[in-house]
Amino acid sequence: MGMKSDIKLIDDNGLRIDGRLPNQLRPIKMEVGVLKRADGSAYIEWGGNKIIAAVYGPREAYPKHIQDPNKAIVRARYNMASFSVDERKKPGPDRRSVELSKVISEALESVIFTERFPRTTIDVFIEVLQADAGTRVAGITVASLALADAGIPMKDLIVGCAAGKIDGVVVLDLNKEEDNYGEADVPMAIIPRTKEIALLQMDGDMSYEELITAMDMAMEAAQEIHRMQIEALKRKYTEIEEVE
Ligand code: ADP
Repeated sequence: MGMKSDIKLIDDNGLRIDGRLPNQLRPIKMEVGVLKRADGSAYIEWGGNKIIAAVYGPREAYPKHIQDPNKAIVRARYNMASFSVDERKKPGPDRRSVELSKVISEALESVIFTERFPRTTIDVFIEVLQADAGTRVAGITVASLALADAGIPMKDLIVGCAAGKIDGVVVLDLNKEEDNYGEADVPMAIIPRTKEIALLQMDGDMSYEELITAMDMAMEAAQEIHRMQIEALKRKYTEIEEVE
């Protein structure tokens, strides 16, 4: 972000380097129930991102001293595989993944009825197999599906979506080049039904008016992504009925 360059990110027709319009999402595919051992799981392909999520719990929190007598602890762990980026990423947690795990945990907790499961943990593993910008928001979107697949009661599915600014224009869902050479990236997590914002971060900078435009764009896209989540859940559960 903010790297000065002569690379043109929007052409004379107003199109982006991958041919998208400013308010257009990258292609998204979702699948629910991809792992046998996890209580819930899901997989997402979002542009060049490939991410899998697995949920375990609610299960008794251990060691006991971490238990909260009033609610479940939501622990998301965001991890990027060493082969997920061009240059081999050093395996294991780093500052970035610790931060992302924390903000993703908080976003997911905001929709889960944690008070129904005192003294437990709900563990959410997010493994990024291929990264191309926007992994935290794609991670939230796929984790939400895995939580639903695990049967964890939530007030709504939660959706991650980013918007930002490239070549002076506010755009939806930045890809890697746009993230590298653009002016701003604003990842958000949105609760579609209530339109609440559960996560809002900003890398780079934009004006107040541009931020409002970016938030409106993400809000609209969140409704579309939410419909894809519902479709993915329906596909899994109608398949089961057919087998039976
Ligand atoms: P997000 O993936 O949520 O947009 P960032 O803005 O921190 O998070 O990262 C943008 C992109 O930069 C990532 O999706 C990934 O493609 C790339 N990236 C992040 N960390 C590394 C790393 N350690 N090595 C190489 N590329 C990375």
